[in-house]
Amino acid sequence: MADISHGRADTNGLSELLPPLTGNEAAVEAARCLMCYDAPCTHACPTHIDIPKFIKKISSHNLRGSARTILESNLLGATCARVCPVQELCEGACVLGAEHKPIAIGRLQRYAMDFAYGQGVPFFQPAKATGKKVAVIGAGPAGLSCSGELAKRGHSVTLFEKRDLAGGLSTYGIIGLREPVDVAQAEVAMLSKLGIIIETGKELGTNLSLPDLQAKFDAVFLSVGLGATTTLGIPGEEHILDGLDYIEESKLDAHNLVIGGNVAVIGAGNTAIDCATIAKRLGASQVTIVYRRSEKEMTAYAHEYDFIKREGVRFLFLTQPVRVHAENGTVKSLECSRMNLGALDASDRPSPQPVPGSNFLLPADQIVKATGQEKPRLASLLKLKTDKGFIQVSKEFATSSPGVYAGGDCIRAHGAASTVMAVQDGKLAARSIHERLVAHG
Ligand SMILES: Cc1cc2nc3c(=O)[nH]c(=O)nc-3n(C[C@H](O)[C@H](O)[C@H](O)COP(=O)(O)OP(=O)(O)OC[C@H]3O[C@@H](n4cnc5c(N)ncnc54)[C@H](O)[C@@H]3O)c2cc1C
Ligand code: SF4
Repeated sequence: MADISHGRADTNGLSELLPPLTGNEAAVEAARCLMCYDAPCTHACPTHIDIPKFIKKISSHNLRGSARTILESNLLGATCARVCPVQELCEGACVLGAEHKPIAIGRLQRYAMDFAYGQGVPFFQPAKATGKKVAVIGAGPAGLSCSGELAKRGHSVTLFEKRDLAGGLSTYGIIGLREPVDVAQAEVAMLSKLGIIIETGKELGTNLSLPDLQAKFDAVFLSVGLGATTTLGIPGEEHILDGLDYIEESKLDAHNLVIGGNVAVIGAGNTAIDCATIAKRLGASQVTIVYRRSEKEMTAYAHEYDFIKREGVRFLFLTQPVRVHAENGTVKSLECSRMNLGALDASDRPSPQPVPGSNFLLPADQIVKATGQEKPRLASLLKLKTDKGFIQVSKEFATSSPGVYAGGDCIRAHGAASTVMAVQDGKLAARSIHERLVAHG
């Protein structure tokens, strides 16, 4: 039994931000739901969870049934309850949002899922074994969802993961304020009860090869996510910390994470906000986010931007880092240039242009970069067709290589990457793989 309800701290200042609802709070909140017909919240959920149905089951104290309703559409219901940008999705579409407060769908979902994990009862039994074998590469949300859906249908699934722990960015990348490590690990444990074999320390491209997998398995699903943080190409970059490592350390090795007193974070997406939050909450007295475009172009969600401003983080817009100044390995400042916005570039955003003679020194003793992740390198390594550097797939999630499917961040050439989209890809890809395996007898 895994009790994941308590909002346990991963680090001193980074315990789960929202406390769990009490039984009374959940009952009151569930009673507000209008149980809309053709509910807009369900349409807005990328995995189309039947939201009024699971809320109704909370109202009738059928928490096991509620959790089952969630899991039928989304096997990572506990993660999604915590990390989904609900303001942009289900809660943003709730009919009560226009004049009152929308229903707290995320928190109700968490309430039902925490109950389910607390009980430790299995929700699904695998169907009769089909004798078909599928290899899934990468144990993030897309890989876990695909593995679970295939195992439910009776296929034998081996999930290969290069890291020590499964869970992908839910384990290593999402700040503990939103998702503690034990939530991701409880989900992995629940899925492995379906008979999925999880082999960690196995990396496609080093100790695994695609031809070998194709010879041993009936289908392969690639869910390898994206690559490392992009490089800036500026002098002194070796003194800049990688934002993904910064978050990972704050979750898994917080005692060894050194936080500066005056921290500069480069980038203005959600990862930058998370890095700035960690720095601020774990002791930095000043945190500055440095971004080369303006407030209008920043990619962080509006609610995240509001949150970080309330945390007291300062923003320097239209500012581009050009050099790190360090003495004897100790960072002293970040030299920056002021920018103006010019014509639209390939990303359809105004291209930042340096203002001549505008360089200045931003004092900083720690610099963290959160400038986005590289495209998946495996695509070219495996000679797969690509779309803007991402693995190209058909609407059935098939890649250009026969029997090889892909989903999650590694195919997200269009639209914003998110956990729930990865879960949905995994689910839909599993359906396509199942249909192909069944059709081929
Ligand atoms: C810092 C950060 C914060 C985020 N916060 C949120 C959030 O709050 N809400 C939200 O919805 N989304 C968030 N996202 C996005 C979300 O985490 C991703 O969209 C989601 O994790 C994608 O799932 P995935 O399975 O495609 O990839 P990943 O989660 O990246 O998992 C890929 C897995 O594949 C493994 N792997 C890679 N290459 C190989 C290989 N060659 N062989 C074997 N294994 C391999 C990796 O180790 C990893 O475990 C965040 C992303 C980041 C970077
Ligand atoms: S839109 Fe709001 S009120 Fe209607 S079913 Fe969904 S959560 Fe309930």
